[in-house]
Amino acid sequence: MPNEQHPQTKMIRTSTAASPHREHASSIYMTSSFTFDDAEHARALFAREQEGYIYTRYANPNVSEFVEKMCQLEGAEAGVAVASGMSAVFTALAGLLNSGDHVLASRSLFGSTHQILTNILPRWGIGHSYGEISQPEKWAELVQPNTRLCFVETPSNPALDLIDLAWLGAFCRERDIILVVDNVFATPILQRPLTHGAHLVMHSATKYIDGQGRAIGGILVGDKQYIDELANFTRHTGPSLSPFNAWLFSKSLETLELRMERHCDNAEKVSHFLEGHPQVAWVKYPHLPSHPQYELAKQQMRRGGGIVAFEVQGGLENGRAFLNALQLCSHTANLGDSRTIATHPASTTHSSLTETARQAVGITPGLIRISVGLEHPADVMADIQQALEALG
Ligand SMILES: *Cc1c(COP(=O)(O)O)cnc(C)c1O
Repeated sequence: MPNEQHPQTKMIRTSTAASPHREHASSIYMTSSFTFDDAEHARALFAREQEGYIYTRYANPNVSEFVEKMCQLEGAEAGVAVASGMSAVFTALAGLLNSGDHVLASRSLFGSTHQILTNILPRWGIGHSYGEISQPEKWAELVQPNTRLCFVETPSNPALDLIDLAWLGAFCRERDIILVVDNVFATPILQRPLTHGAHLVMHSATKYIDGQGRAIGGILVGDKQYIDELANFTRHTGPSLSPFNAWLFSKSLETLELRMERHCDNAEKVSHFLEGHPQVAWVKYPHLPSHPQYELAKQQMRRGGGIVAFEVQGGLENGRAFLNALQLCSHTANLGDSRTIATHPASTTHSSLTETARQAVGITPGLIRISVGLEHPADVMADIQQALEALG
């Protein structure tokens, strides 16, 4: 083929897991292990002198296909898929850091990532400092001689604050710091951190990659140098992704671009609708001109994504009352699903933080996070409208 295919074509046409039976959709390789031709073949595979599958904890055709497709989307040299998004975060940190190292992270992080940094890594003598997204000029002061890795999430969950990836990529490369970006909210369809200097990108495949709320999985893609180390780490520590889940994710990638465009269309409509509503104190959506980092959002995100955050008038009580009044939208702890999902972070996902800690990451008492799904947007807005009216 003369020209490089478009990513959308590659997502639909990449099928590295094909069997000799000429099936049109990829097969599922539900097998724990793979047989050897003879003693010499077994020896060569274990010595890594020859490529081939040995055991599904190490590698599996469905998992390899998923990894290959994610590398194409993110523009990465290599990748390693694991059992969950959190397993990907832990693999990046535990697989690359040594006792005595220091991590620089943005304060706004997914709850469990925060737990790993504050409660688990310190047991192995790995410390961290949090930088404020709103004060990048202060990040240089947070770097220590032993700072080896920087971990950020942009846009952040749930407050949708952004970090300037081009600035951070240069910042980390000048200081020999490995930059790992959680790209769950944006997906590679909207934002590609490796092009801004990140070394590794992490995904919870559970969210938009599956996109239909069916399976848990995670992946890291990026520089081969680091991925090789991490693949060796997961081979022995064992957070392997199930071939069945990998098959689902590979299949879902065929429609990721289509789905993201529609998630963005719908989220834009919902954010405009909310901005004009009297029961709403404020709305945050990266591609709304009222977002404090609107210019940056337009530079580094092709579109604004599928998540909208807003503050209902009346704080905590009304935040809870709003959720109770919803009829169509689901009340569940997930996002990136074809079904619209609403959550109230202050009383659920971020309830273990103190009020001050919540405020520091922009989680106000009446903050509602909506993961806008693929239903007809008029129905989603009608449901939000009736729930807001019920607040009186
Ligand atoms: C869900 C999520 C994770 C964790 O992924 P799991 O698949 O649930 O382990 C990490 N970061 C962000 C931003 C998420 O939304």
